[in-house]
Amino acid sequence: MSWPNPFSQPAKPVPWRRVRSWACTGCGECCRHFQVPLTPSEYVKVLKLLGSWPIEIRLGRPYLRKKPDGRCILQYKLGGMWLCGIQGFKPLACKLWPIKPLEKPKYGRRQEAAFHSRHGVFYVYLDPRCPGVELGEPTPKLAAAIAEAIDLLYNPSGAQRYTTSQLVPPQVPRVEVHGLEHPSALLYAAIRRYPHRLQP
Ligand code: SF4
Ligand code: SF4
Repeated sequence: MSWPNPFSQPAKPVPWRRVRSWACTGCGECCRHFQVPLTPSEYVKVLKLLGSWPIEIRLGRPYLRKKPDGRCILQYKLGGMWLCGIQGFKPLACKLWPIKPLEKPKYGRRQEAAFHSRHGVFYVYLDPRCPGVELGEPTPKLAAAIAEAIDLLYNPSGAQRYTTSQLVPPQVPRVEVHGLEHPSALLYAAIRRYPHRLQP
């Protein structure tokens, strides 16, 4: 049985007060649907750590390259889940999805979207096209994920606990490479050396 692709529908973000929880299921669809732009510092970081192969320039702007099937070149499949090959330094756009912390209530329902963070009030919506988004009464875990997303706006390279396409469980020891934490030295080395192995 095949399910309709939620990304064939336009985005209708819902205010966080209407969302019970969010946890990435590893379906990998966000990494197929979107092409990720790189900020100047992300561009330099990817270039320094991996080289130029994961980057493509379109209209003068750097993006993560896509595979022929539309998936991000850095995505790979493991145990039935689609995971991120650069979990330790993924771009901010990847870190934030499917949470949209905004300075203005762009998608309406101002009161339901208002979130009081340590950086002030943000208007927060989630994109329900992500199958990990469950509607209902917000849980403390959702509030923690939103607070983390807002923190990342101020510190984009900060560590992320509530994240998309988790590489490995948090209990797996981290290693440091070029001053950045990676969950697995072996996988990181393999990605550097054998980028073609990221192909499905
Ligand atoms: S964040 Fe959502 S859309 Fe993206 S891989 Fe996880 S469950 Fe799928
Ligand atoms: S989360 Fe990782 S695999 Fe997915 S688009 Fe971002 S960098 Fe690519």
